[in-house]
Amino acid sequence: MSGLRQMVPGSARADNPLAGSVLADNPPVADALGLYIHVPFCARRCHYCSFNTAPLDDGALTRYLAALRRELDLLAALPWAGRVRLATVFLGGGTPSLLTADDLTAALERLHSRFDVVADAEITVECNPESVTRAKLEGYRAAGVNRLSLGVQSLDDAVLERLGRLHDARGARAAFAAAREAGFANLSVDVMYGLPGLDVPGWTRAIETVLDWRPEHLSAYGLTLEAGSLWGAAGVDGLPPEQTQIDQYWQLARAAAARGFEHYEISNYARPGFRSRHNQIYWRASEYLAAGPGACGFIGRLRYANAKATPRYCEALEDGVLPVDSFEALTPRQRLAERLMLGLRLADGVPAAWLEERLAGDLPLARRVADWRDGRLLLEAGGRVRLTEAGFLLSDALFVDLL
Ligand code: SF4
Repeated sequence: MSGLRQMVPGSARADNPLAGSVLADNPPVADALGLYIHVPFCARRCHYCSFNTAPLDDGALTRYLAALRRELDLLAALPWAGRVRLATVFLGGGTPSLLTADDLTAALERLHSRFDVVADAEITVECNPESVTRAKLEGYRAAGVNRLSLGVQSLDDAVLERLGRLHDARGARAAFAAAREAGFANLSVDVMYGLPGLDVPGWTRAIETVLDWRPEHLSAYGLTLEAGSLWGAAGVDGLPPEQTQIDQYWQLARAAAARGFEHYEISNYARPGFRSRHNQIYWRASEYLAAGPGACGFIGRLRYANAKATPRYCEALEDGVLPVDSFEALTPRQRLAERLMLGLRLADGVPAAWLEERLAGDLPLARRVADWRDGRLLLEAGGRVRLTEAGFLLSDALFVDLL
């Protein structure tokens, strides 16, 4: 996985190991849901990565795939599952493209046999360039996958090596071409800025090159060093100054706009009609199921997470129980804060009434929001409030206040 992680705010964890039954008692409100499937395996761990990954040991993938099938069966057996449809499916990781076409076909067949997947469901697979071929991608397409998210990250071979990635710039270009040749008409490319050794001219060249490929969607995340990553623990030399990161952000915003992309979410750009339907479920605080180790879902008022360690996830399913090991029922106040924080990531913003409700009785926050309006970081029009491009850049500070 390279860019978007599942949006899981909140800190409270109900200590209720493998409490899958809570899902049975918390039916969803919506009749159409998303489904996130986490594929944890990576051939090697990138130096900046803090995602939930697992080594590809002998037998681990086979065991995981059996557990995943069992999990889909158990989710489909929930008392309310028969009345919901799946509108989006997203296989993230990890490196889902380590799955063979046959493995992926079997998993999706199981899904279709157990759930009502809508006819035009968006089905996305995250791919790393070194793990795909045209033949494999043709197999993915035949299995029903209709969108790929390609983890390119950089087109500078020295930077890629430093990140610990397994592909080079040529391999990234070849993977994109293979995806087109395999017939994919909806391709997203992930890139990263704020990388050590990446200056503004290098970044500009990379994004112009990627835009020349004519993807339908682009995700761009600034490097963050989090606990759990090698660099987060050991540090890394050569990080660019903050102003370079800001310049890189603006460079991308301008270049993408010049090519007709909508900057529809803080870190995401799309040609008209190609916004990620699955990721919008997260940003709109809508409901989605989760499968796979460490995957997080949101159903009814319940935010929940699966057992993170892949062996423990597999053991639960081998014992015939859902591998849910933490959950949190959101209070109305938490739900409102979350809707605001997620919704303000979108260029469409949120209803102004939501913000007014949050500000009621909180004078310090109301003053800060007034400053944001005065500084034209936050705009209100047509009954909605939204962040401007400049507001996007500074949004973390506001989101902390809103929680
Ligand atoms: S490919 Fe790299 S960044 Fe993506 S999940 Fe694997 S180790 Fe992490």
